[in-house]
Amino acid sequence: MRAIAGIECDLVVRGGTVVTAGSSAECDLGISGGRISQVGGPMRGRREIDASGALVLPGGIDMHVHLSSPEPAEPGVPAWVDDFGSGSRAAIAGGVTTIGNMTFPAEGQSLHQALDRDLGAAAGTASVDYVLHPVMASPSPEALAELPDLAAAGHMSLKLFMISDEFEAQAAGMIAAISAAGRLGMLTLLHCEDAALVQFAGQQLLAAGRGGLASWAESRPVLAERAAVDRAVAICEATGSPVYIVHLSSAAALDSARRGRARGLPVFVESRPLYLYLTSAALREQDGGKYIGAPPLREPADVAAIWSGLADGSVHTLGSDHAPWSLRDKIDDTLDVTTARQGVADLETIMPMLFSAGVLGGRISLTRFVELTSANPARLFGLYPRKGTIAVGSDADLVVLDPQLRRTIDGRSMQSNADYSVYDGREIHGWPRFTVSRGDVVLADGQVIAEPGRGQLLRRDPTAGL
Ligand SMILES: [Zn+2]
Repeated sequence: MRAIAGIECDLVVRGGTVVTAGSSAECDLGISGGRISQVGGPMRGRREIDASGALVLPGGIDMHVHLSSPEPAEPGVPAWVDDFGSGSRAAIAGGVTTIGNMTFPAEGQSLHQALDRDLGAAAGTASVDYVLHPVMASPSPEALAELPDLAAAGHMSLKLFMISDEFEAQAAGMIAAISAAGRLGMLTLLHCEDAALVQFAGQQLLAAGRGGLASWAESRPVLAERAAVDRAVAICEATGSPVYIVHLSSAAALDSARRGRARGLPVFVESRPLYLYLTSAALREQDGGKYIGAPPLREPADVAAIWSGLADGSVHTLGSDHAPWSLRDKIDDTLDVTTARQGVADLETIMPMLFSAGVLGGRISLTRFVELTSANPARLFGLYPRKGTIAVGSDADLVVLDPQLRRTIDGRSMQSNADYSVYDGREIHGWPRFTVSRGDVVLADGQVIAEPGRGQLLRRDPTAGL
């Protein structure tokens, strides 16, 4: 065996093409103490992994997931089937090393109590790093008074649902919350669908005897999303606070956000895998309820618009909105358009599918892929450059993605407890060979080998914008 000179590292990732949002080069990586200690040059590792023929990318940062808490928001109502344990495994299998979970206070809980509850659940089970986005249901004086302490503790985000009745009823208070969050350096995540317009559409369908799940797309029209995004942009302008529009789905809503950005406003856009690979036609299939998420699947022109937004940089991040259910609970025919269970499993598929359809499909560059899946969320959520890049001193969060690896999606055999995938049967090119989290090899040759509880809460800096 040839002796390799150089500094000894804990782990060496050898022979891959290392890609960041700014560069791409074939080189070895040295990792010590959980961080990148050397990029290129001679090195040897106590352990080495072979990345030849593969891409070495910053680990995925998926800032939009829903994992069940031991204490559900609504007792007795079915909850998402993944917790921090199974959700982490799905993340690792798909090359995601940092997740952002939506933390919903249960009835009567404060934001702090909800965070403590989810932190307790994550501490023993999460095997990737995480942040929590507290959901503010009501902008009460007590809730507003919690914000400075949240920011001081490094919880630099807040989630609001414009689709909720509470948003509608207490809009002035909600705007005050966004204003306060922005002054504290926090980023406000907004679910942008107009509550009154969605309610009106749903009531019309129910009255016409067409309230079944097959009418899901009609029950949440684009105009309701566009109106909410217009309002979000106006709130951003009024308050000067940055807003992050989650799961944007339509061409009209994207145009609205683009106009805000063009005026220099800190309006940031996340989209979601569902809107890249499926259209509203799927909702009208037998068992079409399995595709339900909000906003709903849209038309082919919207799919094209979201792809062009990913390519031209007007969509800034992709978040899975992983919110998994069993197929039976999804297609339950006692549900209607006003009670449907929203969300699908997507943590394990977000990175491989974007790589396969986006990069190999010639729609986005590899550097754009890294921006969307890692660098941009790291910057927006106050994690850069600890996360989101491959540089000396950064956390050694890596995905060794093998473009030659082909696999056909089968939700029953994947890590999520959901027993199906909306992409079942699709052949995807490009899967992780290894996933590395803070220097630990947590996926090797397709096997998740992470210790439950090894994941850490990340204390964040103020949002850096883009
Ligand atoms: Zn969500």
